[in-house]
Amino acid sequence: AAARASLERLVLDVHDFPEPGIVFKDITPLLADHDAFRTVIEALASAGRDADGNVVVDKVAGMEARGFILAAPVALALGIGFVPVRKVGKLPRETHAVSFALEYGEATLELHRDAVAPGDRVLMVDDVLATGGTVRATRELIEACGATAHAVAVLMELGFLPGRETIGDLSVTTLMTV
Ligand code: 5GP
Repeated sequence: AAARASLERLVLDVHDFPEPGIVFKDITPLLADHDAFRTVIEALASAGRDADGNVVVDKVAGMEARGFILAAPVALALGIGFVPVRKVGKLPRETHAVSFALEYGEATLELHRDAVAPGDRVLMVDDVLATGGTVRATRELIEACGATAHAVAVLMELGFLPGRETIGDLSVTTLMTV
């Protein structure tokens, strides 16, 4: 509990960013703290292991942009590859694309068609679960490749939004709920 409280102190509330009325959770102080960053990566990586510590996923998908920062070291910790889920127009080869509504605005996400193989089990990693739109879209992209979304691991869940309820039967690992 003490460790969790010290992690929470490293996430700052920024009012009216990126738009009036939004309270944005700024995780950059946590990333700048080596012990906190390491603790977070180990905890997120546990979502890709079973109770005996065996790795049960084949790829880690990170969502642009803050998801990249967390997902890449999680992939290395698990000893598997990382795949980027990117905003529209950034990936150079053939992609699947899914559009959805965000907490603020709208977005289209893409995944290279060959980023995950049919039958792969994929761990999705992002910084914040808000409305769940990003996770739902990422799951659709993974399934469009014929792979399975195994679970989602996020640093923080915004408990006042119905994100978790909208992502169905997916297992959610979260370090903090605010
Ligand atoms: P959702 O799609 O669940 O509504 O929103 C989650 C996505 O928006 C994540 O990719 C996350 O990076 C971003 N996001 C939404 N709200 C916040 C916030 O308050 N802080 C941060 N750091 N990211 C947010």
